[in-house]
Amino acid sequence: MKTAIIYTRVSTVDQATDGYSLMVQARDCRKYAENNGYKVLKLFKEAGESAKLMDRTQLLMMLDYCTKHKPDALIVHKVDRLARNTENHYYIKGAINKVGTVLRSATEPISDDPAGEFIENILAGTAQFDNALRSWRTKMSMEALTQKGRWLFNVPYGYKLVSTGDNKSKVFIDPERGATVTQIFELFATGAYTQTEVLNKVNPLLSTSSKLSTHRVNRMLRNPFYMGIVRVKNMAPDGVRGEHSPLISPELFVSVQRVLAGKRGEKISRSRVNPDFPLRGVLQCGYCGRKLTGSWSKGKSKKYAYYHCTRTGCAFKSLPKTKAEKEFIQLLDAISPQKEYVESFKTVITKTWKIRTHSIMQESIQLNKRIKQIHRDKEAVALKNAQGATDNDTCKQLLSSLDNQIVATTVKLKELVIEDYDAQALINYSAYMLEHLTKIWERSSIAQKATLQKIVFPNGLIRDNQSYRTPELSPLYAIIRDSNGSKSHLVARRRVELLFQA
Ligand SMILES: [Zn+2]
Repeated sequence: MKTAIIYTRVSTVDQATDGYSLMVQARDCRKYAENNGYKVLKLFKEAGESAKLMDRTQLLMMLDYCTKHKPDALIVHKVDRLARNTENHYYIKGAINKVGTVLRSATEPISDDPAGEFIENILAGTAQFDNALRSWRTKMSMEALTQKGRWLFNVPYGYKLVSTGDNKSKVFIDPERGATVTQIFELFATGAYTQTEVLNKVNPLLSTSSKLSTHRVNRMLRNPFYMGIVRVKNMAPDGVRGEHSPLISPELFVSVQRVLAGKRGEKISRSRVNPDFPLRGVLQCGYCGRKLTGSWSKGKSKKYAYYHCTRTGCAFKSLPKTKAEKEFIQLLDAISPQKEYVESFKTVITKTWKIRTHSIMQESIQLNKRIKQIHRDKEAVALKNAQGATDNDTCKQLLSSLDNQIVATTVKLKELVIEDYDAQALINYSAYMLEHLTKIWERSSIAQKATLQKIVFPNGLIRDNQSYRTPELSPLYAIIRDSNGSKSHLVARRRVELLFQA
């Protein structure tokens, strides 16, 4: 029979009383072991005593136990019980894998195939959040530049990028191609030529590398960049005055749009239909609990998008995509906090952060000293052995026990280091997310939406034929919802304080 050990952990006093209690964790882990044919050799319980920093004495004992008994699996309730960030997660995992022990989660589908590893990676912690933060900041700075009229993308035909020294460059008019663009706009605005006819007039005059296609001309005629406007979806959707010089006048651009609209009226709107189903994955059937999926149905003249249950004969009636998403946005709106709440959130977190940073620094100095000491101890053990004072077996045992101490202490140290983010950026990001949930969702890609939905509704969102059921929210939003009812600034603030003591 395969063997396993179980590692359970609570990090705060609070957690010892809720669903994450050591007992619940142990129970689920044992059940997992039973269902998967593991004999449980030992159970490790890491009970956090202070809310501040966790103690990891059991982690060391667990690692020692693995070295000695080489169990087939280490079972945890959730991946986050093992480590709070990805780096530590893989550090600990590496240590147990070395002796042939694999990691298993009682409540999550992690495994050794690529899909399982991907899930494990996401679950393992903050790497994902870190990435989100990074792309948000890039986006923010891109957005700021775009708002100033800078063009950050491929330069449109008729312009060229010219270096202005010190790694910067600016968009300038390309004389030959620029003149062609102006000519194309003027010809088309007369309404006397089709796009192809315009193309056939200008192309013969162009050098091979400058020749145009109908597709390109079509895009050119719709691009407000040529009248000096920078318009970027999600950054400057209404357009701002660009830093570059225009090739045509706004009047000419408008005339061209009129000609375009007259020739190809409704086609534009039809091409904008988005065939995606962003809520797939988060929505669950209120009658049978299955995940809802999305499909297109063919009507007589139009296609309809709707979400539906996959169980045949289920009481769930197909839900139009537009209705589902409109009501979903209303739900996001309802759980988003008011601005004043977000402000107090920022104040409290910043304060808490400062206090923590100080004590963390003290702690990390101590841990670094401790690691150095263990290394010295190792040298002493090796020296004694060389001098013949201990036999080889004893020496080997001592050294591997010291190695495990290094792993456990380093893990503690690294868990301190994860607090060492750019605090202000992180706080601003969280606050931004809290306040602009709806907007962020609307502007996100399908993949980003899925991530966001998972953060806000960790256990999915149940939908019946009438409405969404009151969802189980992530802790932060749950507290906001509870305190939103009372308008009191202070109540909200106290709740945030309580939350972030952990
Ligand atoms: Zn159903």
